[in-house]
Amino acid sequence: MFTTLSKKFSKIFQNISQQGRLTEKNIQKTLKKVQYTLLEADVSISVINDLTKILKKKSIGQIINKSLTPGQEFIKIVQTELVNLINSPKKKINFFEKPPVKFLMVGLQGAGKTTSLIKLAYFITKKFKKKILVVSTDTIRPAAIDQLEILSKKSNINFLKSYKSQTPQEIVKIAIKHAIKQLYDILIIDTAGRLHNNEKMMQELQNLQNYIKPTETFFVMDSMTGQDALHSIKNFNNFLKISGIILTKLDSDHRGGIILSIQHTTKIPIKLIGIGEKIQDLQIFCPDRIIKRILGMGDISSLIEDLKINLKKSTIQKIEKKIKSGKNFNLNDFLIQIKQIKKIGGIEFLKNKLPLNTQMINQNMYNFNEETLKKMEAMILSMTPIEKEFPKILNYSRKIRISSGSGITIQEMNSYLKQFKNIQRLMKTAKKKGFNTLFKNFTN
Ligand code: GDP
Repeated sequence: MFTTLSKKFSKIFQNISQQGRLTEKNIQKTLKKVQYTLLEADVSISVINDLTKILKKKSIGQIINKSLTPGQEFIKIVQTELVNLINSPKKKINFFEKPPVKFLMVGLQGAGKTTSLIKLAYFITKKFKKKILVVSTDTIRPAAIDQLEILSKKSNINFLKSYKSQTPQEIVKIAIKHAIKQLYDILIIDTAGRLHNNEKMMQELQNLQNYIKPTETFFVMDSMTGQDALHSIKNFNNFLKISGIILTKLDSDHRGGIILSIQHTTKIPIKLIGIGEKIQDLQIFCPDRIIKRILGMGDISSLIEDLKINLKKSTIQKIEKKIKSGKNFNLNDFLIQIKQIKKIGGIEFLKNKLPLNTQMINQNMYNFNEETLKKMEAMILSMTPIEKEFPKILNYSRKIRISSGSGITIQEMNSYLKQFKNIQRLMKTAKKKGFNTLFKNFTN
Protein backbone atom coordinates (compact mmCIF):
# COMPACT_ATOMS: atom_id res chain seq x y z
CA MET A 1 0.00 0.00 0.00
CA PHE A 2 1.38 3.41 -1.07
CA THR A 3 4.84 1.91 -1.52
CA THR A 4 5.98 4.28 -4.29
CA LEU A 5 4.56 7.33 -2.59
CA SER A 6 6.08 6.49 0.76
CA LYS A 7 9.49 5.76 -0.77
CA LYS A 8 9.50 9.21 -2.38
CA PHE A 9 8.46 10.95 0.81
CA SER A 10 11.07 9.06 2.82
CA LYS A 11 13.73 10.32 0.41
CA ILE A 12 12.53 13.93 0.62
CA PHE A 13 12.43 13.77 4.40
CA GLN A 14 15.81 12.10 4.68
CA ASN A 15 17.26 14.90 2.61
CA ILE A 16 15.77 17.70 4.64
CA SER A 17 16.57 16.04 7.99
CA GLN A 18 20.24 16.01 7.14
CA GLN A 19 20.37 19.78 6.80
CA GLY A 20 21.32 21.55 9.98
CA ARG A 21 19.88 24.91 8.96
CA LEU A 22 16.98 25.60 6.68
CA THR A 23 16.68 28.67 4.54
CA GLU A 24 13.60 29.91 2.73
CA LYS A 25 15.25 28.77 -0.48
CA ASN A 26 15.74 25.15 0.49
CA ILE A 27 12.25 24.93 1.99
CA GLN A 28 10.88 26.17 -1.35
CA LYS A 29 12.95 23.54 -3.11
CA THR A 30 11.66 20.79 -0.83
CA LEU A 31 8.07 21.97 -1.28
CA LYS A 32 8.53 21.70 -5.03
CA LYS A 33 9.58 18.08 -4.56
CA VAL A 34 6.51 17.46 -2.40
CA GLN A 35 4.37 18.99 -5.16
CA TYR A 36 5.87 16.76 -7.86
CA THR A 37 5.47 13.69 -5.69
CA LEU A 38 1.79 14.43 -5.13
CA LEU A 39 1.26 15.20 -8.79
CA GLU A 40 2.79 11.89 -9.81
CA ALA A 41 0.56 10.13 -7.31
CA ASP A 42 -2.50 11.53 -9.11
CA VAL A 43 -3.56 13.97 -6.40
CA SER A 44 -5.83 16.61 -7.91
CA ILE A 45 -4.27 19.97 -8.79
CA SER A 46 -6.58 22.03 -6.60
CA VAL A 47 -5.66 19.88 -3.59
CA ILE A 48 -1.94 20.24 -4.31
CA ASN A 49 -2.23 24.02 -4.68
CA ASP A 50 -4.17 24.49 -1.47
CA LEU A 51 -1.90 22.19 0.43
CA THR A 52 1.33 23.81 -0.71
CA LYS A 53 0.01 27.25 0.17
CA ILE A 54 -0.57 26.14 3.78
CA LEU A 55 2.72 24.24 3.95
CA LYS A 56 4.63 27.24 2.68
CA LYS A 57 3.00 29.60 5.14
CA LYS A 58 3.49 27.34 8.14
CA SER A 59 6.96 26.03 7.41
CA ILE A 60 8.58 29.29 6.38
CA GLY A 61 6.99 31.14 9.27
CA GLN A 62 7.77 28.64 12.00
CA ILE A 63 10.83 26.73 10.98
CA ILE A 64 13.39 29.20 9.80
CA ASN A 65 13.28 31.36 12.85
CA LYS A 66 12.54 29.14 15.77
CA SER A 67 13.40 25.50 15.56
CA LEU A 68 16.57 23.76 16.64
CA THR A 69 15.63 20.70 14.55
CA PRO A 70 14.17 22.34 11.46
CA GLY A 71 14.06 19.15 9.36
CA GLN A 72 11.97 17.36 11.97
CA GLU A 73 9.70 20.38 12.34
CA PHE A 74 9.13 20.48 8.60
CA ILE A 75 8.21 16.78 8.54
CA LYS A 76 5.80 17.33 11.43
CA ILE A 77 4.10 20.18 9.56
CA VAL A 78 3.69 18.08 6.39
CA GLN A 79 2.31 15.22 8.46
CA THR A 80 -0.18 17.44 10.33
CA GLU A 81 -1.40 19.18 7.19
CA LEU A 82 -1.86 15.92 5.29
CA VAL A 83 -3.88 14.54 8.21
CA ASN A 84 -6.01 17.72 8.19
CA LEU A 85 -6.52 17.29 4.46
CA ILE A 86 -8.14 13.88 4.79
CA ASN A 87 -9.72 14.26 8.19
CA SER A 88 -13.38 15.02 8.72
CA PRO A 89 -15.45 15.63 11.85
CA LYS A 90 -18.14 13.48 10.21
CA LYS A 91 -15.99 10.37 9.77
CA LYS A 92 -17.50 8.37 12.67
CA ILE A 93 -19.89 5.56 11.76
CA ASN A 94 -23.08 5.39 13.73
CA PHE A 95 -23.45 1.75 14.75
CA PHE A 96 -25.56 2.49 17.78
CA GLU A 97 -28.86 4.12 16.74
CA LYS A 98 -32.16 2.56 17.64
CA PRO A 99 -32.11 -0.94 16.09
CA PRO A 100 -32.32 -2.04 13.44
CA VAL A 101 -29.67 0.40 12.24
CA LYS A 102 -29.76 0.37 8.44
CA PHE A 103 -26.73 0.64 6.17
CA LEU A 104 -27.10 1.00 2.40
CA MET A 105 -24.28 0.10 0.00
CA VAL A 106 -24.21 1.95 -3.34
CA GLY A 107 -21.72 2.47 -6.16
CA LEU A 108 -20.56 1.37 -9.57
CA GLN A 109 -20.49 -2.27 -10.55
CA GLY A 110 -17.29 -4.02 -9.51
CA ALA A 111 -16.34 -1.35 -6.95
CA GLY A 112 -16.45 -3.88 -4.14
CA LYS A 113 -19.94 -3.36 -2.65
CA THR A 114 -20.79 -6.98 -1.91
CA THR A 115 -17.32 -7.84 -0.67
CA SER A 116 -17.22 -4.75 1.55
CA LEU A 117 -20.70 -5.51 2.87
CA ILE A 118 -19.59 -8.91 4.10
CA LYS A 119 -16.35 -7.53 5.50
CA LEU A 120 -18.32 -4.85 7.33
CA ALA A 121 -20.78 -7.39 8.75
CA TYR A 122 -17.85 -9.52 9.92
CA PHE A 123 -16.07 -6.49 11.41
CA ILE A 124 -19.14 -5.37 13.36
CA THR A 125 -19.87 -8.89 14.61
CA LYS A 126 -16.31 -9.34 15.84
CA LYS A 127 -15.78 -5.89 17.26
CA PHE A 128 -19.16 -4.98 18.73
CA LYS A 129 -20.81 -8.41 19.03
CA LYS A 130 -23.90 -7.08 17.23
CA LYS A 131 -26.57 -9.17 15.54
CA ILE A 132 -26.38 -8.49 11.82
CA LEU A 133 -28.67 -9.30 8.91
CA VAL A 134 -27.67 -8.84 5.26
CA VAL A 135 -29.86 -8.71 2.16
CA SER A 136 -29.36 -8.02 -1.54
CA THR A 137 -31.66 -5.89 -3.67
CA ASP A 138 -29.54 -6.54 -6.77
CA THR A 139 -32.09 -8.17 -9.03
CA ILE A 140 -30.19 -7.07 -12.14
CA ARG A 141 -26.78 -8.75 -12.13
CA PRO A 142 -27.08 -12.49 -12.59
CA ALA A 143 -25.93 -14.35 -9.49
CA ALA A 144 -25.58 -11.20 -7.35
CA ILE A 145 -27.98 -12.56 -4.73
CA ASP A 146 -26.22 -15.94 -4.81
CA GLN A 147 -22.84 -14.24 -4.38
CA LEU A 148 -24.02 -12.58 -1.17
CA GLU A 149 -25.56 -15.82 0.05
CA ILE A 150 -22.33 -17.78 -0.52
CA LEU A 151 -20.17 -15.14 1.15
CA SER A 152 -22.57 -14.91 4.10
CA LYS A 153 -22.64 -18.65 4.65
CA LYS A 154 -18.87 -18.85 4.44
CA SER A 155 -18.53 -16.26 7.18
CA ASN A 156 -21.48 -17.23 9.33
CA ILE A 157 -23.38 -14.02 8.66
CA ASN A 158 -27.19 -14.06 8.72
CA PHE A 159 -28.51 -13.70 5.19
CA LEU A 160 -32.09 -13.08 4.08
CA LYS A 161 -32.97 -14.66 0.75
CA SER A 162 -34.40 -12.33 -1.90
CA TYR A 163 -35.66 -13.13 -5.41
CA LYS A 164 -35.23 -11.66 -8.86
CA SER A 165 -39.00 -11.47 -9.23
CA GLN A 166 -39.23 -8.95 -6.36
CA THR A 167 -38.68 -5.21 -6.60
CA PRO A 168 -35.91 -3.69 -4.45
CA GLN A 169 -38.57 -1.97 -2.33
CA GLU A 170 -40.43 -5.21 -1.72
CA ILE A 171 -37.18 -6.87 -0.66
CA VAL A 172 -36.32 -4.06 1.72
CA LYS A 173 -39.82 -3.99 3.22
CA ILE A 174 -39.62 -7.69 4.07
CA ALA A 175 -36.04 -7.34 5.34
CA ILE A 176 -36.87 -4.50 7.72
CA LYS A 177 -39.90 -6.38 9.07
CA HIS A 178 -37.76 -9.47 9.57
CA ALA A 179 -34.99 -7.48 11.27
CA ILE A 180 -37.44 -5.92 13.72
CA LYS A 181 -39.17 -9.20 14.49
CA GLN A 182 -35.93 -11.13 14.97
CA LEU A 183 -34.31 -8.34 17.00
CA TYR A 184 -31.40 -7.67 14.66
CA ASP A 185 -29.17 -4.73 15.60
CA ILE A 186 -28.02 -3.88 12.10
CA LEU A 187 -29.40 -4.53 8.62
CA ILE A 188 -27.01 -4.07 5.70
CA ILE A 189 -28.56 -3.71 2.26
CA ASP A 190 -26.69 -4.32 -1.00
CA THR A 191 -27.82 -2.63 -4.22
CA ALA A 192 -27.19 -3.20 -7.91
CA GLY A 193 -24.15 -1.42 -9.34
CA ARG A 194 -25.07 1.47 -11.60
CA LEU A 195 -23.65 4.39 -13.53
CA HIS A 196 -24.53 7.87 -12.31
CA ASN A 197 -25.69 8.86 -15.81
CA ASN A 198 -28.35 6.15 -15.84
CA GLU A 199 -31.13 8.46 -14.72
CA LYS A 200 -33.74 5.71 -14.31
CA MET A 201 -31.55 3.58 -12.07
CA MET A 202 -30.42 6.59 -10.04
CA GLN A 203 -34.05 7.59 -9.51
CA GLU A 204 -34.83 4.08 -8.33
CA LEU A 205 -31.97 4.27 -5.85
CA GLN A 206 -33.19 7.64 -4.62
CA ASN A 207 -36.66 6.19 -3.98
CA LEU A 208 -35.11 3.25 -2.17
CA GLN A 209 -33.07 5.54 0.04
CA ASN A 210 -36.12 7.66 0.85
CA TYR A 211 -37.99 4.52 1.80
CA ILE A 212 -35.21 3.01 3.96
CA LYS A 213 -33.95 6.22 5.57
CA PRO A 214 -30.61 4.55 6.29
CA THR A 215 -28.31 5.66 9.08
CA GLU A 216 -25.44 5.36 6.66
CA THR A 217 -25.36 5.33 2.88
CA PHE A 218 -21.92 4.12 1.88
CA PHE A 219 -20.59 4.94 -1.56
CA VAL A 220 -18.23 2.07 -2.30
CA MET A 221 -15.40 3.25 -4.46
CA ASP A 222 -12.55 1.45 -6.18
CA SER A 223 -9.40 3.42 -5.34
CA MET A 224 -7.84 2.34 -8.64
CA THR A 225 -10.34 4.33 -10.71
CA GLY A 226 -8.42 7.53 -9.96
CA GLN A 227 -9.76 11.02 -10.56
CA ASP A 228 -12.82 9.83 -12.55
CA ALA A 229 -14.21 8.45 -9.36
CA LEU A 230 -14.47 11.96 -7.94
CA HIS A 231 -17.07 12.81 -10.60
CA SER A 232 -19.01 9.65 -9.84
CA ILE A 233 -19.23 10.48 -6.13
CA LYS A 234 -20.38 14.02 -6.84
CA ASN A 235 -23.02 12.77 -9.27
CA PHE A 236 -24.26 10.05 -6.95
CA ASN A 237 -24.44 12.65 -4.23
CA ASN A 238 -26.72 14.80 -6.41
CA PHE A 239 -29.32 12.04 -6.26
CA LEU A 240 -28.65 10.60 -2.84
CA LYS A 241 -27.37 11.69 0.47
CA ILE A 242 -24.04 9.85 0.69
CA SER A 243 -22.90 9.79 4.31
CA GLY A 244 -19.54 8.12 3.80
CA ILE A 245 -17.15 6.44 1.43
CA ILE A 246 -15.71 2.96 1.59
CA LEU A 247 -12.50 3.09 -0.40
CA THR A 248 -11.59 -0.37 -1.67
CA LYS A 249 -8.53 -2.06 -3.17
CA LEU A 250 -6.01 0.10 -1.38
CA ASP A 251 -3.79 -2.95 -1.27
CA SER A 252 -3.31 -2.81 -5.03
CA ASP A 253 -0.20 -1.26 -6.39
CA HIS A 254 -1.43 2.09 -7.60
CA ARG A 255 -0.54 5.71 -7.14
CA GLY A 256 -2.76 6.29 -4.14
CA GLY A 257 -3.39 10.00 -4.68
CA ILE A 258 -7.14 9.60 -4.68
CA ILE A 259 -7.17 9.16 -0.93
CA LEU A 260 -5.69 12.64 -0.53
CA SER A 261 -8.18 14.24 -2.94
CA ILE A 262 -11.58 12.82 -1.93
CA GLN A 263 -12.37 14.66 1.28
CA HIS A 264 -11.09 18.03 0.04
CA THR A 265 -12.89 17.76 -3.31
CA THR A 266 -16.20 16.17 -2.35
CA LYS A 267 -16.53 17.05 1.35
CA ILE A 268 -17.73 13.49 1.91
CA PRO A 269 -15.73 11.61 4.55
CA ILE A 270 -13.98 8.32 3.90
CA LYS A 271 -15.20 6.01 6.66
CA LEU A 272 -13.74 2.61 5.86
CA ILE A 273 -10.97 1.22 3.71
CA GLY A 274 -10.65 -2.15 1.95
CA ILE A 275 -7.13 -3.48 1.97
CA GLY A 276 -7.48 -6.93 0.43
CA GLU A 277 -9.86 -9.63 -0.71
CA LYS A 278 -10.12 -11.50 2.56
CA ILE A 279 -12.95 -10.98 5.01
CA GLN A 280 -10.77 -9.33 7.63
CA ASP A 281 -9.35 -6.81 5.15
CA LEU A 282 -11.50 -3.85 6.10
CA GLN A 283 -10.45 -1.10 8.46
CA ILE A 284 -11.98 1.98 9.98
CA PHE A 285 -10.42 4.93 8.20
CA CYS A 286 -7.91 6.60 10.52
CA PRO A 287 -6.32 9.66 8.88
CA ASP A 288 -3.22 9.76 11.04
CA ARG A 289 -2.46 6.09 10.44
CA ILE A 290 -2.92 6.43 6.69
CA ILE A 291 -0.69 9.48 6.53
CA LYS A 292 1.97 7.67 8.53
CA ARG A 293 1.90 4.90 5.94
CA ILE A 294 2.01 7.36 3.07
CA LEU A 295 4.98 9.10 4.63
CA GLY A 296 6.76 5.78 5.20
CA MET A 297 6.46 5.93 8.98
CA GLY A 298 4.87 2.47 9.48
CA ASP A 299 1.65 1.82 11.29
CA ILE A 300 1.69 -0.25 14.44
CA SER A 301 -1.77 0.80 15.63
CA SER A 302 -3.81 -0.77 12.85
CA LEU A 303 -1.74 -3.93 13.07
CA ILE A 304 -2.73 -4.18 16.72
CA GLU A 305 -6.38 -3.67 15.83
CA ASP A 306 -6.24 -6.38 13.18
CA LEU A 307 -4.48 -8.84 15.41
CA LYS A 308 -6.97 -8.15 18.19
CA ILE A 309 -9.77 -9.10 15.86
CA ASN A 310 -8.06 -12.11 14.33
CA LEU A 311 -6.14 -13.81 17.10
CA LYS A 312 -7.19 -15.26 20.45
CA LYS A 313 -6.31 -13.13 23.49
CA SER A 314 -4.48 -16.04 25.10
CA THR A 315 -2.24 -16.41 22.03
CA ILE A 316 -1.51 -12.70 22.04
CA GLN A 317 -0.62 -12.84 25.74
CA LYS A 318 1.76 -15.73 25.14
CA ILE A 319 3.58 -13.79 22.44
CA GLU A 320 3.72 -10.76 24.66
CA LYS A 321 5.24 -12.73 27.53
CA LYS A 322 7.86 -14.18 25.27
CA ILE A 323 8.86 -10.86 23.79
CA LYS A 324 8.94 -9.12 27.15
CA SER A 325 11.08 -11.80 28.73
CA GLY A 326 13.61 -11.30 25.95
CA LYS A 327 13.95 -15.10 25.72
CA ASN A 328 15.60 -16.67 22.76
CA PHE A 329 13.45 -16.84 19.61
CA ASN A 330 13.53 -20.57 18.95
CA LEU A 331 12.27 -22.99 16.30
CA ASN A 332 8.99 -23.62 18.14
CA ASP A 333 8.32 -19.87 18.10
CA PHE A 334 9.21 -19.86 14.43
CA LEU A 335 6.57 -22.44 13.62
CA ILE A 336 3.91 -20.70 15.73
CA GLN A 337 4.74 -17.37 14.11
CA ILE A 338 4.48 -18.72 10.56
CA LYS A 339 1.08 -20.20 11.34
CA GLN A 340 -0.12 -16.94 12.85
CA ILE A 341 1.16 -14.86 9.98
CA LYS A 342 -0.63 -17.17 7.55
CA LYS A 343 -3.82 -16.77 9.57
CA ILE A 344 -3.80 -12.97 9.50
CA GLY A 345 -3.14 -12.70 5.79
CA GLY A 346 0.49 -13.41 5.04
CA ILE A 347 3.61 -11.33 4.97
CA GLU A 348 2.24 -8.80 2.46
CA PHE A 349 -0.27 -7.81 5.12
CA LEU A 350 2.46 -7.29 7.72
CA LYS A 351 4.82 -5.51 5.36
CA ASN A 352 2.41 -2.63 5.03
CA LYS A 353 2.28 -2.08 8.73
CA LEU A 354 5.53 -2.76 10.46
CA PRO A 355 7.86 0.17 10.96
CA LEU A 356 10.73 -1.86 9.63
CA ASN A 357 12.74 -1.37 6.55
CA THR A 358 10.54 -3.30 4.14
CA GLN A 359 13.55 -4.55 2.26
CA MET A 360 14.45 -6.50 5.36
CA ILE A 361 11.23 -8.45 5.04
CA ASN A 362 12.00 -10.63 2.11
CA GLN A 363 8.94 -11.86 0.24
CA ASN A 364 10.13 -15.47 0.48
CA MET A 365 10.79 -15.32 4.17
CA TYR A 366 7.27 -16.36 5.13
CA ASN A 367 6.22 -17.83 1.84
CA PHE A 368 5.33 -21.32 3.04
CA ASN A 369 2.62 -23.49 1.60
CA GLU A 370 0.69 -26.09 3.60
CA GLU A 371 3.01 -28.90 2.51
CA THR A 372 6.17 -27.03 3.55
CA LEU A 373 4.55 -26.15 6.84
CA LYS A 374 3.81 -29.82 7.55
CA LYS A 375 7.40 -30.77 6.69
CA MET A 376 8.77 -28.07 8.96
CA GLU A 377 6.54 -29.21 11.76
CA ALA A 378 7.80 -32.79 11.31
CA MET A 379 11.39 -31.54 11.32
CA ILE A 380 10.91 -29.56 14.53
CA LEU A 381 9.09 -32.41 16.27
CA SER A 382 12.06 -34.68 15.59
CA MET A 383 14.44 -32.35 17.42
CA THR A 384 15.50 -32.42 21.04
CA PRO A 385 14.50 -29.42 23.21
CA ILE A 386 18.07 -28.11 23.14
CA GLU A 387 18.20 -28.35 19.33
CA LYS A 388 14.94 -26.40 19.07
CA GLU A 389 16.30 -23.74 21.38
CA PHE A 390 19.74 -23.51 19.74
CA PRO A 391 19.64 -24.87 16.17
CA LYS A 392 23.25 -23.76 15.78
CA ILE A 393 24.33 -27.08 17.31
CA LEU A 394 22.80 -29.05 14.44
CA ASN A 395 25.83 -30.79 12.96
CA TYR A 396 25.76 -33.38 10.19
CA SER A 397 25.09 -36.42 12.41
CA ARG A 398 22.24 -34.66 14.22
CA LYS A 399 20.75 -33.68 10.87
CA ILE A 400 20.94 -37.31 9.65
CA ARG A 401 19.04 -38.39 12.77
CA ILE A 402 16.35 -35.70 12.29
CA SER A 403 16.10 -36.48 8.61
CA SER A 404 15.38 -40.16 9.23
CA GLY A 405 12.87 -39.24 11.96
CA SER A 406 10.95 -36.66 9.95
CA GLY A 407 11.39 -37.90 6.38
CA ILE A 408 12.70 -34.57 5.08
CA THR A 409 15.96 -34.27 3.21
CA ILE A 410 19.02 -32.52 4.63
CA GLN A 411 18.79 -30.02 1.78
CA GLU A 412 15.24 -29.09 2.77
CA MET A 413 16.32 -28.89 6.41
CA ASN A 414 19.13 -26.51 5.55
CA SER A 415 16.77 -24.30 3.60
CA TYR A 416 14.26 -24.12 6.50
CA LEU A 417 17.03 -23.41 8.98
CA LYS A 418 18.31 -20.59 6.78
CA GLN A 419 14.85 -19.04 6.71
CA PHE A 420 14.63 -19.41 10.47
CA LYS A 421 17.95 -17.57 10.84
CA ASN A 422 16.72 -14.67 8.69
CA ILE A 423 13.54 -14.36 10.70
CA GLN A 424 15.44 -14.60 13.98
CA ARG A 425 17.55 -11.66 12.84
CA LEU A 426 14.41 -9.76 11.86
CA MET A 427 12.86 -10.41 15.25
CA LYS A 428 15.89 -8.91 16.98
CA THR A 429 15.55 -5.71 14.97
CA ALA A 430 11.80 -5.67 15.49
CA LYS A 431 12.36 -5.82 19.21
CA LYS A 432 14.71 -2.87 19.09
CA LYS A 433 12.28 -0.91 16.94
CA GLY A 434 9.35 -1.10 19.24
CA PHE A 435 7.78 -4.53 19.15
CA ASN A 436 7.56 -4.26 22.92
CA THR A 437 5.08 -1.40 22.57
CA LEU A 438 3.17 -3.37 20.00
CA PHE A 439 2.63 -6.30 22.29
CA LYS A 440 2.00 -4.16 25.34
CA ASN A 441 -1.10 -2.87 23.62
CA PHE A 442 -2.61 -6.30 23.11
CA THR A 443 -3.54 -6.72 26.73
CA ASN A 444 -5.24 -3.32 27.10
P1 GDP B 1 -19.57 -5.13 -6.54
O1 GDP B 1 -19.96 -5.39 -7.96
O2 GDP B 1 -19.44 -3.67 -6.28
O3 GDP B 1 -20.46 -5.81 -5.54
O4 GDP B 1 -18.09 -5.71 -6.38
P2 GDP B 1 -17.61 -7.06 -5.67
O5 GDP B 1 -17.82 -6.98 -4.20
O6 GDP B 1 -18.17 -8.23 -6.38
O7 GDP B 1 -16.02 -6.93 -5.91
C1 GDP B 1 -15.43 -6.93 -7.19
C2 GDP B 1 -14.03 -7.52 -7.08
O8 GDP B 1 -13.22 -6.66 -6.31
C3 GDP B 1 -14.00 -8.88 -6.40
O9 GDP B 1 -13.12 -9.70 -7.10
C4 GDP B 1 -13.46 -8.58 -5.01
O10 GDP B 1 -12.76 -9.66 -4.45
C5 GDP B 1 -12.53 -7.40 -5.31
N1 GDP B 1 -12.32 -6.54 -4.13
C6 GDP B 1 -13.22 -5.88 -3.39
N2 GDP B 1 -12.63 -5.18 -2.40
C7 GDP B 1 -11.29 -5.37 -2.54
C8 GDP B 1 -10.13 -4.89 -1.83
O11 GDP B 1 -10.18 -4.10 -0.87
N3 GDP B 1 -8.92 -5.33 -2.31
C9 GDP B 1 -8.82 -6.18 -3.37
N4 GDP B 1 -7.61 -6.56 -3.77
N5 GDP B 1 -9.88 -6.63 -4.06
C10 GDP B 1 -11.10 -6.25 -3.64
